[in-house]
Amino acid sequence: MSLSDAMSTSPSPPSPPSRKESQLGAKCSTDTRDSATASRTSTEEQPMRSMVRMLGMQSRSVCGYCKTIDGSSCYMLESLRLSCESYQGLIDRGWRRSGDLLYLTDHADSCCCYYPVRTRTLDFVSGSSDKRVLRRWRRRFGATCIDNELADTVCISEEQQLKIVIESTGYSDEKYRVFEKYQRTIHNDDTTPERFSSFLCMSPLVHHHCGQDLLSQQEISQDAEHLRTLLPHGLGSYHMCYYIDGALVAVGVIDVLPRCISSVYLFYDPDYSDLSLGSFSALREIALVRQLHRYIPSIEYYYPGYYVPGCSKMTYKSRWRPAEMLDLISYRWIPIERCLQRIADYSDFCTFDPDLDSRGIVRKQGQVLKDAAPAFYMPKQALDNDTAGLVVWILVNGREMRIRPLLVSDLAAVSTSYEHVALQAYAAIGKDLARSMVILV
Ligand SMILES: [Zn+2]
Repeated sequence: MSLSDAMSTSPSPPSPPSRKESQLGAKCSTDTRDSATASRTSTEEQPMRSMVRMLGMQSRSVCGYCKTIDGSSCYMLESLRLSCESYQGLIDRGWRRSGDLLYLTDHADSCCCYYPVRTRTLDFVSGSSDKRVLRRWRRRFGATCIDNELADTVCISEEQQLKIVIESTGYSDEKYRVFEKYQRTIHNDDTTPERFSSFLCMSPLVHHHCGQDLLSQQEISQDAEHLRTLLPHGLGSYHMCYYIDGALVAVGVIDVLPRCISSVYLFYDPDYSDLSLGSFSALREIALVRQLHRYIPSIEYYYPGYYVPGCSKMTYKSRWRPAEMLDLISYRWIPIERCLQRIADYSDFCTFDPDLDSRGIVRKQGQVLKDAAPAFYMPKQALDNDTAGLVVWILVNGREMRIRPLLVSDLAAVSTSYEHVALQAYAAIGKDLARSMVILV
């Protein structure tokens, strides 16, 4: 079967992607006969469906944590458009984003184990080191300010003014200057405005006004106004900016999602290192989750990122309790005490879920144990062998860019390697989530 034959049996396509031609685009470039159909039906599709492009398993690269050359292996997608709901589903399967790239580490075949961790903020109790940090801030800026949960905060102590503001993720020279100094001083790394912008300013997340009902209720207009002040664009990506005496000193990049705030990155002016901005910003982000929960009850968790055993820079992620870790085989969140015990018992990548006890570890002496491997090792099995109705979308380069859907089962007739990549992507994303998204090859 030819590609155009396979494509002629397709359901209606969504609106076209915003940029870049796909790998298969060149093969499709002479096929313009479906363009009119595509044009006619494109408005029938949900306009806000998430759209990602498969980039597949990447060649091994240097590990960002232990610095092993070729130590890290990951699966990657490029996100052209991502709903907050889709991204919530992805990070609950171990994915993280960097700019508009989504990556899932091959935990069973990388030097370090990256375990996603989250804090149950409603029951949060600050530990002794957090209390020390807060005492330092209270002494410097005044107790009223620091104990106030408000994220949008201005306070003036006798000596200095502190202002914390949630802003859009737009680029500014002021933000870049802080980032450049941070990279140069803390990481001994050069950067450019373009790299800064693509890493920390661009976000594929589509802002979503969760809690519209709340906003429309007259009797709680004060609360609604407050929510609007906190999240002017609804759910989505933001910069939480810290100003001291009018100067920007730190920026926390955060994603506000239906059930959590996910911390993307923090950069700060190294001249203010004595303030422990990393710890303080995490506490403010936890406070923001608790505050948002009052208006959007589903928001309960704080996701600080990956816990990496043995990496002193990353073990602090487990510090804010009570916390849970994600079991990367069953995708269930498990109380962290059990997980840390398992990690202590097994030096290799392991499971935490009590229901998976018989499997124990996933990797032994460098070998992945196939009966407990991550989903993308055995994609068909992970999908229960049910690939009926699974569709990938092919970019057709006609007079205008159009995309056409293709059943995965038909894709095999075109290219078994594309079929394999498609199945891997579906297994890594999960069948239900993948069916709700447009996946381009
Ligand atoms: Zn490593």
